[in-house]
Amino acid sequence: MSIQVERDTTTTGAATGAGVEHVRIAIVGTGFSGLGLAIRLKQRGIADFVVLERASDVGGTWRDNTYPGCACDVPSHLYSFSFALNPDWTRTFSPQPEIWAYLRDCVDRYGIGPHIRYGAELLDATWDDGARRWRITTPQGPLTADVLALGNGPLSEPSIPAIPGLDGFEGTLFHSARWRHDHDLAGKRVAVIGTGASAIQFVPRIQPAVGHLTLFQRTPPWILPRLDRPISDRRRALYRRLPAVQRLVRGLIYTQREIGALGLVYRPAMLARVEKLARKHLEAQVADPDLRKKLAPSYRLGCKRILLADDFYPALTRPNVEVVTDRIREVRPHSIVTEDGTERAVDTIIVATGFHVTDMPAARCVRGRGGQLLADTWRDGAQAYLGATVAGFPNLFLLIGPNTGLGHTSMVYMIESQLAYILDCLQMMARRGVETVEVRPEAQATYNDEMQRRLRGTVWLSGCASWYLDAHGRNSTLWPGFTFAYRRRTRRFDPASYALTPRMAPVGAAG
Ligand code: NAP
Repeated sequence: MSIQVERDTTTTGAATGAGVEHVRIAIVGTGFSGLGLAIRLKQRGIADFVVLERASDVGGTWRDNTYPGCACDVPSHLYSFSFALNPDWTRTFSPQPEIWAYLRDCVDRYGIGPHIRYGAELLDATWDDGARRWRITTPQGPLTADVLALGNGPLSEPSIPAIPGLDGFEGTLFHSARWRHDHDLAGKRVAVIGTGASAIQFVPRIQPAVGHLTLFQRTPPWILPRLDRPISDRRRALYRRLPAVQRLVRGLIYTQREIGALGLVYRPAMLARVEKLARKHLEAQVADPDLRKKLAPSYRLGCKRILLADDFYPALTRPNVEVVTDRIREVRPHSIVTEDGTERAVDTIIVATGFHVTDMPAARCVRGRGGQLLADTWRDGAQAYLGATVAGFPNLFLLIGPNTGLGHTSMVYMIESQLAYILDCLQMMARRGVETVEVRPEAQATYNDEMQRRLRGTVWLSGCASWYLDAHGRNSTLWPGFTFAYRRRTRRFDPASYALTPRMAPVGAAG
């Protein structure tokens, strides 16, 4: 019997009859997620993929965040791919230029360069159910792909606060993730809005140069000593000669960090000891009782991201710094007015107000079966199965999807778990002749019920507002457990949770 199917049977990696290029896999983004997937594919001998990058260089958030003092608050040895340890980290907490250089080096080392399309921002990705493929649009033109993997990352779209009058500010205004290196801050009256992970890193760097710095703090963060130190030449030579030693150090750091999950997820009461440490840190660094009071958090440590800094509090004690805790009422062309009516003249405003995390902009350009927008599917909160697949969106994989973020250790570990899951799925598809995989709605619902049940009682729902929570107060961001538990669940692709469609025979094939 001959099976006639009306679909494009173009071989992968080639142009279709209509001149549209087709690939097996299209990856969005060149941060740790996108590059990690690209490298893993290459290592498995799969070369039929492209990586779509909106910018002109790789690196994701580590390319975009170039503010002074930008560094990672996860120890260097853990913040790298397990298959590409870097013996040359110069500090125990790597500065941004080193992480960015590491990612660029990975591109060269694994031959990913030819797969990357620069200036290829994802404008639209629509699932074509008839052709069983993704139709993708970027400024570089159309493309189709069997599989789409979103590695655009949760920290890629800066969030600009909705403060009345901000648009009309006539001085210089920029977000910390889009640092204006061409703008000389020397002697300027600078306002910084926000006291999160970014602000606490750059405030100490700019404080000595600026004329006056006004720091607008809405909620004081919990801050622990950072204890960053250089890694000696001898130590680095040892890691180069004996990678097993570095792997051992990595393992020790991993274990120590996992213990942190105990307090955050299972026993928030354990955090009381850490709070004591943080309070001592504040007391040791800030003598002025009024300033100390402003900087003391009144919510549970860990509810928001725990920050590490040795130089932030001291910077705030300098005579050219004022910490303002009154809410901002409005921004005027040359000043900021707070609720108490005080008007402060400023030349520059730096907003360090975080990112669109729970309302990922990329979700507004991905359409699944029936044209359903991912953003609409997530109207009541983002959810996915294992943070990786979404019902109604065949052959779509999310990297760092809902409920895979962490408050205690390296995201690279979670990313690698997801990569193993995706690769196992691709292998299963090839082995069994499966053309599409789509998670069953009931599997996704059961999984998300479990997530939300396990999140109850965690420190993240202990009463503070944070970017971990969506507009409905639901934590759609963090993984509620140990990272090794997530790894166990993603080690193998689980076809039973999915609807699988067999590959259709090409037109005219004998059956
Ligand atoms: P963030 O942690 O979300 O902090 C944003 C800050 O802006 C908070 O202090 C927030 O106050 C304040 N804010 C937001 N909207 C405001 C408004 N309308 N008016 C006044 N204040 C407002 O952002 P981030 O510092 O850029 O860091 C984001 C994430 O990036 C971090 O949590 C971390 O995961 C990552 N990061 C990591 C590192 C690292 O070392 N690995 C470094 C930088 C960033 P509230 O607390 O009151 O909301």
